[in-house]
Amino acid sequence: MSGMLYLCATPIGNLGDMTPRVAETLQSVDLIAAEDTRNSIKLLNHFGIRTSMTSYHEYNKVEKADYLVGQMRLGKNVALISDAGTPAISDPGEVLVQKCQEAGITVTSLPGPAACITALTLSGLSARRFCFEGFLPSDKKEKAQILTELKEESRTILIYEAPHHLVRTLGELYEELGDRRITLCRELTKKFETVLPTTIGAALSLYGREEPRGEYVLVVEGKSLRQKEEERQASWQSMTIEAHMSFYTKGGMDEKAAMKQVAKDRGVAKREIYAAIHGTGMC
Ligand code: SAM
Repeated sequence: MSGMLYLCATPIGNLGDMTPRVAETLQSVDLIAAEDTRNSIKLLNHFGIRTSMTSYHEYNKVEKADYLVGQMRLGKNVALISDAGTPAISDPGEVLVQKCQEAGITVTSLPGPAACITALTLSGLSARRFCFEGFLPSDKKEKAQILTELKEESRTILIYEAPHHLVRTLGELYEELGDRRITLCRELTKKFETVLPTTIGAALSLYGREEPRGEYVLVVEGKSLRQKEEERQASWQSMTIEAHMSFYTKGGMDEKAAMKQVAKDRGVAKREIYAAIHGTGMC
């Protein structure tokens, strides 16, 4: 009989957030795969857990996953933990889960802390629809592509950032998205937890005066549907009626349907479009 994989969420700062089920599982499995064993030993010592650990991190995630799958095939139960929070959320885990699935090994997840969800609930921004970006990529081209996509995103956006990159990221968001509402969630669950609802511009001036410290989740307001509609209207208004008409006729509409659509886009009566194209008269 194969063993199984347990994805174990661990505290993001406050050890009181360790769930009893995670503590029991870490105690009872045969092996713990940890992102940084030197860091996780403190957590295990705190809870009196003596299970042996092996490292599983970004740079060995493929070969080590094969080793761990081999161990589970031999009947060993393995738990995966990251430095903090939920494995596979901006942390290694995904590859191991895929390889377990391919090998027919059962995987279960023991839910617990995740900085993104903690921040979202505290942000005061819409939690009905949201998207998680994690860290923006360091590659410039890739980042520019993602920022362009985020500009049109109507859901609340969650971004992870380290303090030494915070000002740069706020500047890039300001440039691409404009001065939106943002909530900066810092040092969540820790002694100096701070939740700052503000705007991107105001956050930039704040961190022009003081140095960012600690770990941050940025919760950014999505683009409102009203704003999208206003922009769409403005883009039509900047076109001549002839160019607006040919946009639709070139797309395959007949003149009558195009006139109706152009009138709707510009918020005017169809007869006004007709008059502009054919001179005064009825359509
Ligand atoms: N797996 C983790 C999770 O479930 O949230 C995320 C790990 S990712 C490598 C680390 C990033 O998460 C940090 O740079 C920061 O953006 C965010 N983070 C983690 N702990 C945090 C905390 N206590 N307060 C604010 N942000 C935190």
